[in-house]
Amino acid sequence: MKQSTLLLYSILFLTGLFFVSCSNGKGDLSMGIPDAVQHQIIDKMIEKFGEEHKERIQTGVKQVAERWRSDDGTEEEFENFCLENFYHKQDELDLVFDRFQTNLEALYGNLHRINRQFMWQLHVEAGPVLPIDYMFGAYNIYAHVSDDLFRSKIAFTALLNFPIYALEEKTVKGEQWTRRQWAEARLADGFVNRVPAEVSQQRSEIYTYADDYITHYNIYMHNLLNDEGDRLFPEGLRLISHWGLRDEIKAQYANPGGLERQQMIYRVMQRIISQEIPAVMVNDNEADWNPFTNEVWKTGTQETLPAEPEPNTRYEHFWKTFEAEKLVDPYSLINPTLIDRRFNTQREILEEDVEAMLIEILTAPVIQDIAHLIENRLGRNLEPFDIWYDGFKARGQYAEEELDRIVRNRFPAVEAFEAQLPQILRRLGFSRDRADYLSARITVDPSRGAGHAWGARMRGDKAHLRTRIPEDGMDYKGFNIAMHELGHNVEQVFTLEGVDYYALSGVPNTAFTEAFAFVFQYRDLDVLGLTTDDPEADALRTLNDMWNTYEIAGVSLVDMSVWRWMYDNPGAGARQLREAVQRIATEVWNEYYAPVFGVEDVSLLAIYSHMISLGMYIPDYTIGHVIAFQIEDYLKDKDLAAEMERMCIQGRLTPQLWMQNAVGSPVSAQPMIDAASKAVRVIE
Ligand SMILES: [Zn+2]
Repeated sequence: MKQSTLLLYSILFLTGLFFVSCSNGKGDLSMGIPDAVQHQIIDKMIEKFGEEHKERIQTGVKQVAERWRSDDGTEEEFENFCLENFYHKQDELDLVFDRFQTNLEALYGNLHRINRQFMWQLHVEAGPVLPIDYMFGAYNIYAHVSDDLFRSKIAFTALLNFPIYALEEKTVKGEQWTRRQWAEARLADGFVNRVPAEVSQQRSEIYTYADDYITHYNIYMHNLLNDEGDRLFPEGLRLISHWGLRDEIKAQYANPGGLERQQMIYRVMQRIISQEIPAVMVNDNEADWNPFTNEVWKTGTQETLPAEPEPNTRYEHFWKTFEAEKLVDPYSLINPTLIDRRFNTQREILEEDVEAMLIEILTAPVIQDIAHLIENRLGRNLEPFDIWYDGFKARGQYAEEELDRIVRNRFPAVEAFEAQLPQILRRLGFSRDRADYLSARITVDPSRGAGHAWGARMRGDKAHLRTRIPEDGMDYKGFNIAMHELGHNVEQVFTLEGVDYYALSGVPNTAFTEAFAFVFQYRDLDVLGLTTDDPEADALRTLNDMWNTYEIAGVSLVDMSVWRWMYDNPGAGARQLREAVQRIATEVWNEYYAPVFGVEDVSLLAIYSHMISLGMYIPDYTIGHVIAFQIEDYLKDKDLAAEMERMCIQGRLTPQLWMQNAVGSPVSAQPMIDAASKAVRVIE
């Protein structure tokens, strides 16, 4: 607690400093060279380099002109730059391309090494953490890279010679491209946006405040009273909204009397969404509260207090994140809204494709079947909070203590885990040769947190696996997490060392790396030489996946619709936003959940805290579930080692093309829906 506050202060302190030094003596940040000037230069260049280069010249000049600022040079200097830095001979262009590959790998690879070192004390169990460690931790090593690449004209040279392709073009033409063409497209992608450092800084400050608001939004559960004045929750239980509240709903399925506690938490969530929650109940335990009647008393007394609501803070922060994105919009030439940036540059799946996928999940007939299964298991009608039903769990075959003992004997310390990486990988199906190759490129560090996998950004550097091993040796939970991280590390090695062009290193987005991590994690008992033969385990896991995906698909749709509403109503403000969020959440509920739950007009889908502080990130969870399921499903009866390497060395294509090559069809929820239908029959 103390440490995180300190970290926040050091971030704000550093960014504050940064702001002052940047805004002093800053010139005009608007970009662009007049069309007429561009045309003159294009004509001169065609004359100099030949008519056959006309198309490349037109594209290149336009790409540079759109991002050129007055402090980059006069129109005459712009002209000279274009005439001197356009490469029309293929052999020279090849050399330029190679320079970018080599030098950007050196730049990002070494910055990454510095960053890893600066974060070392915070991430790795390596002695005391001092205030100076937080300062190094908050130092943003990448803050000026983009600015410097433009100022030095390196970025402009890339833009003058290599065209940018919009997502639609990549989707249509990409299938026919050579690997080199893909690498060139990715190179140009790196310079699409020229957002001034102070603008990104301002944006990230707004998000930091929103995140801080969310991080400190706790409910003291012992202070909640039902209509009889009873306290249903133990003293000291403090839950963060919404994760902690949601997880408590999940946990209460297994407890006697859980239903009443779930109903109470549900009421709290509704009060948070509507902002009727008394301000004194946020992050404080000085008052008692009946969330059903919204009455408040001084703690432990009959003395009533005014139930003054929280002053719309939730939606103030949300609205500010929209304003933060509006700051960036003018500098994002190809994708001028957050919606465009999220879908076209980060996810790289078209908005309409994502929306169609969400609706496919939400309207899958199997949802009704799963809902009936849940009703039978609960012995009651569904309540809205059963979107978080948590009862599809296989009973473990081995006692946790037994597993702890096996793991502890085998991995008494970090060194033992690192030394046995080759054996672990061979158990997963990797050949001796591949297991040695991978093990030589992964190093294991003792972690402060639960676990973490951090890949390298230049060849020759190693991926780091962080795992937490207590004094008396690794326990089973730790081993299970370490297997997850190892899945990430193996992907990281293949997608850096095995990919033919540096510009193509990596995976299309984080969902792809999570898929491999889950595959490894799921096979943890195999690695220990233990067998599993519960015929229902697989079916239960599939039903759990499908129900979770159904839940988050609705929340994703709400998140997307709210951002559309904000861009349609840029003058609205936080108060109208509050109304819009509740209206949209209720509409989505009535369309896709009311038919399943038999309850109408529920705003619950608006409880997600991510909406407030992460700028339309939620659809990534749904896409992640779908992609991970698709890859895992495909790998089930295949050679994991060979297939994983084949998939990974494709590098960072678009998700749809990557998936097409990997499993023979584009990203699709169909495998999950089909598997869920089979699973329903197994469990019935
Ligand atoms: Zn992970």
